[in-house]
Amino acid sequence: MIALTRWFWEVVAAGVVVSVLLALLAIDLIAPLDLNSPPGPLTWLHLQLLKVDPERCYAALDRAQINYKRFADPIKDGCGFDNGAMLLGSEINHGGNVLMTCHGLAGLILWERTVVAPAAERYFGGSKLVRIHNMGTYSCRNIEHKKEKVRSEHATANAIDVGGFGFSNGTQIVIEKDWKDTNAKGAFEREVRDGACKIFSVVLSPDYNPYHSNHFHMDMSFVRFCR
Ligand SMILES: [Zn+2]
Repeated sequence: MIALTRWFWEVVAAGVVVSVLLALLAIDLIAPLDLNSPPGPLTWLHLQLLKVDPERCYAALDRAQINYKRFADPIKDGCGFDNGAMLLGSEINHGGNVLMTCHGLAGLILWERTVVAPAAERYFGGSKLVRIHNMGTYSCRNIEHKKEKVRSEHATANAIDVGGFGFSNGTQIVIEKDWKDTNAKGAFEREVRDGACKIFSVVLSPDYNPYHSNHFHMDMSFVRFCR
């Protein structure tokens, strides 16, 4: 009888703990996403939820004072998107149009501000991040531009390729040239790649395959993979 009572109270206690944890999780996911706060364990899920709630996503861009315009391209032949955003200007130079799904752009801003910029300051003597070399966002194409492969996440504006970085002290990082660097440049690149993995679903670096020897591919698909 005593054993049964103890078992009962253990089940009740476990139920209370699980309920509290679920409530905290729900509260955190309902709270507005702050694109100036470093990524935590729920950031990826939060961004995925913005995918299905575009108005919350645009509100996150507005709160972060992003200069953008809403953008859509009719979906046809596996290309196109509904809830996109074109970046119109930024505190840093992106070297080309940034046109992504809203939650993709939110992920990019979060990465720049809370992962890349702080790492730049730490590794390069207080330097500011001034440039991210954007090698391409929206593009109606297949994976690796190959006919036999399926549509890339770029075809639905859900991805960006980044080829390098520039800092206010004049330092430039070119992923193709600097990936194997064993000093600050290499450590910086690996830190920002790993930071991207907390935000984006798929992050492919030169560690993945030769096709990615000169850039990071970062996308907001649902499958998670990081290398
Ligand atoms: Zn890509």
